Amino acid sequence: MFFLKLKPHWQILIALALAAFAGAALGHDSHDSNGLSGFGIFVIATCRFLGTIFMSALKMVIVPLIVSSIVTGIAGLGKMDGFGRMGMKTLMYYALTSLMAILIGLAVVNVMKPGFKDGVPNPVIKKMLDDEAIKLGKTPNEKVDAASKRASNGTKTVLDVFKSMVPTNIVKAAAEGQMLGLIFFSIVFGAAMTRMTGESAEVMRHFFLALNDLMIAITKGVMLFAPLGVFALIVPVMAETGLSTLFGTLFKYFVVVLLALGIHMFVVLPIMLKTLGGVNPWRHFKAMKEAMLTAFSTSSSSATLPVTMRCVIDNAGVSRRTTSFVLPLGATVNMDGTALYECVAVIFTTQVLGYPLTMPEQFAIVFMALITSIGVAGVPSASLVAILIIFKSANIPGLHPAAAMAVLLAVDRLLDMSRTVVNIFSDSCGAVIIGLSEGEKNILQDEKKDVFEESF
Ligand code: ASP
Repeated sequence: MFFLKLKPHWQILIALALAAFAGAALGHDSHDSNGLSGFGIFVIATCRFLGTIFMSALKMVIVPLIVSSIVTGIAGLGKMDGFGRMGMKTLMYYALTSLMAILIGLAVVNVMKPGFKDGVPNPVIKKMLDDEAIKLGKTPNEKVDAASKRASNGTKTVLDVFKSMVPTNIVKAAAEGQMLGLIFFSIVFGAAMTRMTGESAEVMRHFFLALNDLMIAITKGVMLFAPLGVFALIVPVMAETGLSTLFGTLFKYFVVVLLALGIHMFVVLPIMLKTLGGVNPWRHFKAMKEAMLTAFSTSSSSATLPVTMRCVIDNAGVSRRTTSFVLPLGATVNMDGTALYECVAVIFTTQVLGYPLTMPEQFAIVFMALITSIGVAGVPSASLVAILIIFKSANIPGLHPAAAMAVLLAVDRLLDMSRTVVNIFSDSCGAVIIGLSEGEKNILQDEKKDVFEESF
């Protein structure tokens, strides 16, 4: 069939476009299923079912993939030399790019003022906030409540992030997807393997290498179903996004977030790739296209991790050693798009409320966005929890945090899809830059070995 002969990214793009049309055709402007016909409800339920299976299939490989790639990466080194250096570089890269992303968000939201209309706080959005506050008083919003609970339980504070690094039970950590615990255990495991000698050491090394190859092969297999999975994930999003809210009242806010994300992704990160790594950014974009499309469709950096790893190793030519260290950690702690979004969302809300933030208050928000983005999980809408934490600690007069969340939720999904792309793209640039700084040879920069022979 013609479709199956197309390159994978074209298949996914076509599926995305078809899903956007199908979803919009089914679409309605409420946030529940009341406006859908029986047929529409059936289609959406089927899509949700298939979409969940696709997401689960991607997530299914994460634990064995991370463990095997880190163990192989470290054990392959033969010794731990240079690991601390790579760790420092990685953390510096994460902190620097996240901070730059937030500062871009800060600048764009202050210049464009999406919370204002004709120089004054936008009365229509203010009314939306007030209406939500009244509504919430009567019928609590489930999603906001869940985020609120997680925020007040403090499950995502930075201290907790560090605490979860050393898991008491590795099986539980794996089952609960505590990435940092898994990463730490795998590093210790790999390091201990470098001390083993003899036949058993060889057996272990071969086992983890084979396991890693196998997981990458399974990821490729899962990606064969990506067009169907992407279609199934996008139809409900398009059908249930309040298009009138998106293209009406909150349009300026939506555009401001996209613009800031765009500046970071298409200007700042490419400049870093070029200046720090000498890499042609366009080639890197092409190398990462499948991962970016997956991130866009799933809104989850964690679920995208296997695809990101495969693209970075196979298409960008980064070693497994660097990839296995930079990407799993990045999927958990390096979230440029999320950090930027948190900053824009909070400042936008204060603009609507007509509360002028002082410089120190703005910088406190920048700091909070940086810190909380580390604790945000790589799952859909996770940054709303971080935003709630900032709202609760910022003490803004007249702010009803849950009502503000409900308003932000109205256009969150499409913004979530976009910021997830930025999150994984930044991780991938980090892997390339750090790999090059470690003296790796096969990375895109090397024109002789064209790891990227396929073209658009
Ligand atoms: N969905 C984002 C991710 O997985 C997190 C967020 O900003 O909500 O990277």
